[in-house]
Amino acid sequence: MSERVVIIGGSHAANSVIETLRWEDFRGRLTLISEEKVPLLSPTALPYLLENGDWKDPWLRPLSFYQDIRVVETRAIGIEPDRGRVVLPGRKRISYDRLVIATGASAAPLTIETSRENPVLTLRKVQDLHRIAEKARRSQKILIIGAGLIGLHLAQIFSQAKKKVHVIELKDQVLPGLIPSGLAFQVKSLFEEKGVRISLGVRLETLREKEGRLSNGERVGVDLAIAAIGIRTNWEVVQGTSIAVREGIVVNDRMETSLPGIYACGDVAEYRDFFTGESRLNPNLVSAAEQGRTVAAALLGKSDRHPGLISINTFRCFGCELVSLGRIEADVGDHVLEQGNFEGKFYKRMIFRDGRLKGLSFFNIPIDGGLYYKLVREGVSLEREEERLFREPFLFGKALAQRASKA
Ligand SMILES: Cc1cc2nc3c(=O)[nH]c(=O)nc-3n(C[C@H](O)[C@H](O)[C@H](O)COP(=O)(O)OP(=O)(O)OC[C@H]3O[C@@H](n4cnc5c(N)ncnc54)[C@H](O)[C@@H]3O)c2cc1C
Repeated sequence: MSERVVIIGGSHAANSVIETLRWEDFRGRLTLISEEKVPLLSPTALPYLLENGDWKDPWLRPLSFYQDIRVVETRAIGIEPDRGRVVLPGRKRISYDRLVIATGASAAPLTIETSRENPVLTLRKVQDLHRIAEKARRSQKILIIGAGLIGLHLAQIFSQAKKKVHVIELKDQVLPGLIPSGLAFQVKSLFEEKGVRISLGVRLETLREKEGRLSNGERVGVDLAIAAIGIRTNWEVVQGTSIAVREGIVVNDRMETSLPGIYACGDVAEYRDFFTGESRLNPNLVSAAEQGRTVAAALLGKSDRHPGLISINTFRCFGCELVSLGRIEADVGDHVLEQGNFEGKFYKRMIFRDGRLKGLSFFNIPIDGGLYYKLVREGVSLEREEERLFREPFLFGKALAQRASKA
């Protein structure tokens, strides 16, 4: 009998597993358990749908993608590893030989006192989008809690829609942990120029009716509050089993959990950082796809190992392009090149170690993020040409990547 592989969750990480198995001519039987109906929307599409309401073809994959897979549209509520079964509502069970958990993450909730009339909303699923869009229509004063990528993207959308937008952030910079502080100052100024108010080092303490109270004592008018304060991984399905969970489901370099034959990938998985070796989450598309490919390799009996997580973030705000990848802060002994022009609105910073690129943060400088990801991931030797790469990041970066591919 052919092997039964069951995948829970049907988004980016799951798709990557399925596609890689198809390319490699996997002969087993695939079952996909998805609580969302197929075809699915990517969470990444939501801000764009909010912005321009273009619903023409927003799906992650077309319906035909699922033709040769058994799709079960329900929520998996548990697993029975001893029996090799996934538990579904109504006492139903689905048996597996190997299991992939790709259940992603949810928006972290803001646990503060709010009124029923004015709850703090979050954005992760299509129903969240409808709730936000509906309320935004009747709102003028919008409070966004969290100045990460999603918070700032929403701030941009609402300010362009002529709303009065106030972003508050607990940390002392915008995009904390994603870009260096020098660049964060520039991004903050850009938003402020466009009329977005940003308060740093501040949190929302209570939200009642149309008034929010901030930790600095200020009271602010709020018609709509949206929290974009990070994620909480969807690991509940393994609750009650011996599978190790910290922030996410802990996996090894084959993306296998602490129980053999059960894998996890994407936002739900916790794995080691490429540079520091520390265990962490890496919630982004590139990583979900990469991890999915490692799971597929393991299912196919190949010896591929995941080399470690690398962060990558790309963001377009008010017509400006931002790319950050790899290490954001330099370690002792790293070689850092940095240049910025506040008036001209550009910034670049590269971090090198032993003649290799470890990280970069670019603002308004045209580069191919995927290509630089490859340079970092493969540890391409720059052969003492770091300065040149810094001076000519577009053309020389491309030449280096081509050279690496030929080698
Ligand atoms: C608004 C927004 C914008 C973003 N923009 C970007 C961006 O520009 N670039 C980028 O790299 N990343 C972005 N991200 C992050 C990116 O969306 C995630 O990294 C990516 O979706 C992770 O894919 P995943 O498959 O691991 O999980 P998810 O996309 O979270 O999918 C998990 C799926 O599993 C389902 N599921 C969960 N539990 C169960 C269960 N028990 N049974 C059955 N099904 C279950 C969920 O309903 C969901 O469909 C954004 C995220 C958001 C919210």
